[in-house]
Amino acid sequence: MARYTESQCRLCRREAMKLYLKGDRCYSDKCAIERRNYPPGQHGQNRGKLSDYGLQLREKQKIKRMYGLVEKQFKSYFKEADRQKGVTGTNFLVLLERRLDNTVYRFGFANSRSQARQLVRHNHFLVNGKKVNIPSFLLRPGDSVSVVEGSRTLGIINESVAAMPRRGLPAWLELDTAKFEGLFKGYPNREEMNLPVQEQLVVEFYSK
Ligand code: SF4
Repeated sequence: MARYTESQCRLCRREAMKLYLKGDRCYSDKCAIERRNYPPGQHGQNRGKLSDYGLQLREKQKIKRMYGLVEKQFKSYFKEADRQKGVTGTNFLVLLERRLDNTVYRFGFANSRSQARQLVRHNHFLVNGKKVNIPSFLLRPGDSVSVVEGSRTLGIINESVAAMPRRGLPAWLELDTAKFEGLFKGYPNREEMNLPVQEQLVVEFYSK
């Protein structure tokens, strides 16, 4: 599947906000948003006001890039959210948050979602005691996620766990750092997700 392989920091600059795509660097003064907070490219500093469509498009791109998804996957989550009862925009964000790679990142076992995706693919995690290597696996309330015993000494995981306090643990998760194990307690509500995005614009984008 086609993936974006250019500079991750360009994506943040394009969306004019930190998307936290590069782990430790995002918290340092090397962060490109701290240094050059304007869109990349020759005309980056001279772009005009966005149309309604432009605003919707940018919000969609922002969320898609934040979770590291390609258009096809992203749209399929929207369709699923639209089929569910309740507020489509919130359903959509909940589906994204339920992904195993995102949850591994939220627990602090990885310092970015892309690193979490790679660790999941390389069989470093168990869900309810069974190996799961599918990053898009959707967690349900009561599911536990743990690091495979042989992987608990991995530097990459330990460094991420050590750096975790600066991010904080979301309300819908519970973590036992000593056991390298976390619990997905329940689906988050919109306030708990505390995401700086306007999902309603994405709903408008796909509803045209
Ligand atoms: Fe984005 Fe992180 Fe790069 Fe900063 S360092 S621009 S937050 S990816």
